[in-house]
Amino acid sequence: AKRIPGTSLSMAERRFAQMSSTALENEQALRKGIRNQEIYLDYQPKIDAVSGRLLGFEALARWHRPGIGPVSPVEFIAIAERTGQISELGSLLLERACRQIADWRRAIGGCVPVAVNVSPMQLLNKGFPQLVQRILQQTGIPAHCLTLEITESAAVENLEDTQTQLQQLRALGIEVAMDDFGTGFSSLSMLRELPLNTLKIDRGLISPLPAPDAVAVVTAICQLAGALDLQVVAEGIETLEQAIAARDAGCHALQGYYYARPLTVADAGAWQQRELGA
Ligand code: C2E
Ligand code: CA
Ligand code: CA
Ligand code: CA
Repeated sequence: AKRIPGTSLSMAERRFAQMSSTALENEQALRKGIRNQEIYLDYQPKIDAVSGRLLGFEALARWHRPGIGPVSPVEFIAIAERTGQISELGSLLLERACRQIADWRRAIGGCVPVAVNVSPMQLLNKGFPQLVQRILQQTGIPAHCLTLEITESAAVENLEDTQTQLQQLRALGIEVAMDDFGTGFSSLSMLRELPLNTLKIDRGLISPLPAPDAVAVVTAICQLAGALDLQVVAEGIETLEQAIAARDAGCHALQGYYYARPLTVADAGAWQQRELGA
């Protein structure tokens, strides 16, 4: 049977182990995982569409569950939300990312912005802006080194609360990106009402590039973004053809396996060193 690297379980055994985990077991395993610092971040580069230079990273959460292996963040973030652990996990990850920015700043002398994903429940927590402020103070990083990625669903369901939270975060100097744009049901007026810096176009709209209809949609989004003074990131770039089509459609930044998979801290650090040395 095919072995998963880093575990002693076969694919079938692993699937069985996952399926047979009850909700309670998942909850307890995650609680333990958080306590034992089993959850960490990888960093995927964002590339300037025109110059090809590094613009920053997106931090992506990873969990190797003991005895089971890697669990998708989609899955364990959902468990954290369902079981009331998202505040703890979310602030832990945010703190981790900010400490990493601080370490890189010391090592490299400048900051490469890092984007952190924020779950809707975390964002709508009343004390969230204060938490972010405290973490910035404790880690000593400038606010512009941090971007928060939020999703459409949160904003659609709670427009006013989202607005209030984002205004407070922007007042700190933090940048805000709308993630997965094009998958939800956001009205275009919502884009005007939220204080955003960036739109991230979902992979679902990027994958079909350079098909003409996809080019038309991405071009229209970039024009809209331009009119609203928003930057555009294309996510899920897997081929050179997609990269060229996204650039020509007007996307400012490109992210995806074509450039790099999410990297370890060491590899992401080496990438920055290389850029600065060049
Ligand atoms: P997302 O924020 O949309 O992140 C992009 C996902 O696409 C990541 O999956 C990334 O590894 C993957 N990806 C990047 N480039 C490519 C590509 O070229 N092709 C393909 N097929 N995929 C690509 P990942 O790491 O499994 O994360 C999945 C989702 O889990 C994220 O989607 C995000 O919604 C959530 N997530 C991850 N980390 C965190 C976190 O720290 N906090 C919160 N709240 N959510 C997180
Ligand atoms: Ca994201
Ligand atoms: Ca996304
Ligand atoms: Ca997504």
